[in-house]
Amino acid sequence: MSGNILVVTEHLSGAFTDATFELLALARNLAGVSGAEVDAALIGNSVEGLVGELGVADRVLLIDDPALESFNPVGHTASVVSLVDATEPRVVLVPYTSTGMDIASHVSAQCGLPLVSYCQSVDASSAGLSATCQLYAGKLLADVEVDGDRAVFAMLSGAAPAADGRREGAPAVEARAAPPEAAASTTRFRALGEPEAGDVDITAQDVLVVVGRGIDSEDNIEEAVELAEVLGGAVAASRPIVDQGWLPKTRQVGKSGLTVKPKVYLALGVSGAPEHVEGMRDSSTIIAVNTDPHAPIFGVAHYGWVGDLFDILPELTDRIGG
Ligand SMILES: Cc1cc2nc3c(=O)[nH]c(=O)nc-3n(C[C@H](O)[C@H](O)[C@H](O)COP(=O)(O)OP(=O)(O)OC[C@H]3O[C@@H](n4cnc5c(N)ncnc54)[C@H](O)[C@@H]3O)c2cc1C
Repeated sequence: MSGNILVVTEHLSGAFTDATFELLALARNLAGVSGAEVDAALIGNSVEGLVGELGVADRVLLIDDPALESFNPVGHTASVVSLVDATEPRVVLVPYTSTGMDIASHVSAQCGLPLVSYCQSVDASSAGLSATCQLYAGKLLADVEVDGDRAVFAMLSGAAPAADGRREGAPAVEARAAPPEAAASTTRFRALGEPEAGDVDITAQDVLVVVGRGIDSEDNIEEAVELAEVLGGAVAASRPIVDQGWLPKTRQVGKSGLTVKPKVYLALGVSGAPEHVEGMRDSSTIIAVNTDPHAPIFGVAHYGWVGDLFDILPELTDRIGG
């Protein structure tokens, strides 16, 4: 065992995801405690140009091969397995994303390492490995101790600030050959689902005005759009609004939608079900308006107003826009 921390990086359309930088920041913190080195696994085709963004890592383990052009659960997983087998890290950090979930479970099974999922924090002291994990969409937190001295951790977003993991530099690069599974795989990547043309990216907004079932009808959404416009933000929604076809799927916040972290999250008529909160709990300032004083959304809101959203919505638009 090397004692190192291996971060499995993730990139889409030629750019690292925020999750990559969050994990690098987390790995650096863990390394500071244990004195370990941070390795970053970079897997893809013609990705060497990305190495300079991984300045937080001590070393980049690079597998660059045409067979790894797009994410492939067989090829990418086999690549990570080969790196784990060769370098024997103490800790493997994988983002808990759709691709990361594939990698984490396979690496765990194929390398014979325990897998701890839904982690919001990890500790790697000399006493052992442990993590705090969310259960039931965050309603419960479990402190988990690893049985053994090595493990794979699938990390939820927000484990560390992405800004702390962004640093340009020239870490040592160790290039390795792609495993045979990469070219032999019969699984083919078909397409990356992008937001509908012309729609906004709610994950990139500073201000979100979020409507829930309390908005009552599709026609009323226009009032929320007007408020979002005067605030310089965008409208997002809970799942029932999207299920009814009132807003596109690209506007849905939550477990089966998108995870957002705006500076201001204004929830109008949103109850705050765990599946919704999972996608917005890390917003900087959460403001909730709801007629029900016991609505769970008030449990995560920094500011709340018990009342009818239709009383406050036009008033806010007039005052801020006016
Ligand atoms: C596997 C799974 C995945 C899911 N994924 C998601 C997801 O990604 N995102 C998501 O949002 N949900 C998701 N859900 C659904 C989730 O469980 C809730 O059903 C949903 O979030 C509720 O949406 P809501 O808050 O808009 O509606 P409701 O729960 O019906 O709440 C409406 C709220 O509006 C308030 N209200 C009513 N009228 C007014 C008014 N005039 N003024 C102010 N307040 C008013 C009510 O008091 C109530 O609190 C998922 C569920 C499952 C099982």
